[in-house]
Amino acid sequence: MPVELHCHTTASDGTLSPEELVRLALAQGLEALAITDHDTTAAWGPAVEAARGFRLEVIPAIEINGERDGRDVHILGYYLDPDHEALQEALTGLRQARVRRLEEMVERLVALGLPITCQEVMALATGESVGRPHLARALVARGHVRDMHEAFELYLGSGRPAFVPRRNLAPEEAVRVIRRASGVPVLAHPGLTGDDAVVPALVEAGLMGLEAYYPQHAGWEVQHYLDLAERHGLLVTGGSDFHGPGARHRAGLGGVALPPGVMPRLREAAASLRDPGGQGPPPATP
Ligand code: AMP
Ligand code: FE
Ligand code: FE
Ligand code: ZN
Repeated sequence: MPVELHCHTTASDGTLSPEELVRLALAQGLEALAITDHDTTAAWGPAVEAARGFRLEVIPAIEINGERDGRDVHILGYYLDPDHEALQEALTGLRQARVRRLEEMVERLVALGLPITCQEVMALATGESVGRPHLARALVARGHVRDMHEAFELYLGSGRPAFVPRRNLAPEEAVRVIRRASGVPVLAHPGLTGDDAVVPALVEAGLMGLEAYYPQHAGWEVQHYLDLAERHGLLVTGGSDFHGPGARHRAGLGGVALPPGVMPRLREAAASLRDPGGQGPPPATP
């Protein structure tokens, strides 16, 4: 049965609510769904509620975006404890930093001659975690740009005039905080990061997997990350990074096929963290 291990809702920058996403997952016949919103676990409760009575496992999960030497290093976390205090504290800090960064980007846009307000953007960000996609949609709504692609291309993309970097957790820190919350940390879309040199330090911090299967990974990249995972004793995962219908995607929800061994290994890894007596991996470095 298909699963989805990487997707977003309106709690961050997706366009479907948690309930709508669960309904889509059920329509697609998915067996498991991990909502990996940026810097928030707010979708988990409503998603569990919406899946009640159906045979759909809703996995508590997260995506924390970090950076190393100018490269995006995104860490996914699976089966974490959504109520863990240190985790929630870290996520709250990241979301507050997102709001301050939005204010700076809005100032830059105004200075560039594109009138826009934070209020308009916040009105489009119905969830907890505001990001550039919300700002891009506001620019489209104002008629400043034709579409989101143009918004990133002209203003919001890295290095463009209205771009302001996010305050990030170091990726190792993201790995550690996920481990502290009993989650399984996985390096998201390593092909987009584009530098395997980040992997050893992440493994040292407690990384347990690589997202080998990803719509933007070429066939040779998938094989490369399968090999790399094996060399480091890591599990592999995959997912579509679905942000909603019509968004720039190469795969729909549940559209990335995973080999049958992936889910059992992920569940096993999660269980090994919950059961300190089990033969789990060594604990994360403090
Ligand atoms: P942020 O977390 O605020 O830096 O925004 C990053 C998010 O922007 C990513 O997770 C994507 O969903 C989205 N994104 C990045 N580049 C583009 C692009 N060229 N067009 C549309 N969305 C993008
Ligand atoms: Fe996103
Ligand atoms: Fe990502
Ligand atoms: Zn994502």
